[in-house]
Amino acid sequence: MPQENVIQAGRGPRPTEVPAPARCTHLRRDPRGYPIIAAIPQEPSKEDYGALSEQRKLVVATFDLCAICTMPFRDELRWQVTFDDQLQHMGETPTFNEAPVHEVCALYAAQVCPFVSSPHARLGDAFRKGQRRPETLVLTGFDRTAAVFGRDSELQVGKAILMFEMAGLHRTYHLTGAGDARDAYEAALRDETRIELDDSERRIVDILCAPTPEGEDSGAVMAGAALFIGAAFCPQIRRVQAMKKFTQARDDFYFQLAANFLFQPDMMAKFEDGEDPSTAAATSWFRTRESLPVVLQQWRTDGARRVRDVTGRRPRLPGTTPAAPRDEAAIRRRKEAEAALRKARRKKR
Ligand SMILES: [Zn+2]
Repeated sequence: MPQENVIQAGRGPRPTEVPAPARCTHLRRDPRGYPIIAAIPQEPSKEDYGALSEQRKLVVATFDLCAICTMPFRDELRWQVTFDDQLQHMGETPTFNEAPVHEVCALYAAQVCPFVSSPHARLGDAFRKGQRRPETLVLTGFDRTAAVFGRDSELQVGKAILMFEMAGLHRTYHLTGAGDARDAYEAALRDETRIELDDSERRIVDILCAPTPEGEDSGAVMAGAALFIGAAFCPQIRRVQAMKKFTQARDDFYFQLAANFLFQPDMMAKFEDGEDPSTAAATSWFRTRESLPVVLQQWRTDGARRVRDVTGRRPRLPGTTPAAPRDEAAIRRRKEAEAALRKARRKKR
């Protein structure tokens, strides 16, 4: 094992000694100088680098943002962190409990962030189960985020968290020492491309990178806005505990509004001038996209198959084929099969 191992805590340079990528310079820093990255819980002065905010994960998934710098991916690869040979046991479309990040951001984090420099602090359920200290930090770049959904955590039974399924494995780094990591970071920094934001993207990034005027974590408020525009249809979202505030809201408010948006997208216009800055920014963003990020599109397509209006009609999304009409014969067959099963079970007792 190399003497100066990059993934041992406390051996790296101080966070303020490492030049940040241009796309990270807008991030606030905690008193020690650590950048306050997009996906961690960040109530002012209670930033928690040892945790992930499920609400913030939902937000970055919805708007297709990097979980470190909060900026959009555009056509850059999406990177995930693993250790040693972990990735080889994850199948063709590996699934992560972390939201993906830019290449330069992943390499920057490997230099400064406690979460990458100390995997035991937080990374990966498998590692927290007390396996040996990993030796190689493996960064993997994927072409796309294939799906985002809720799933039971391997670590805490009965507690669902958001999972990111990645596809199109493109490139990897195997970093075994601080020297490796530094060289890779310096090269990525030289190649960094500027990300230009349009007006509504800028508003979303600004909101997410600061506390609300009331001094709360803005991720919680923006998650509500994300639900409206389609994240409400993220599979198994109701099982994710951190979403309780939304999933148990009166009259199923967030989900009803999300369904209304599917039926009447024009209705969104009125929210653009609304009082809540998060909802206004999210609405404006939604209305000005040429195409929506794939994950959000999937959620909305899925939602369109699940909701009906009072006349039994399903919403029609532009660019998608309407859901197949109800097959009454198939429904009858299924009901009969279920009834037979129930009968058989009763007999057994
Ligand atoms: Zn980034």
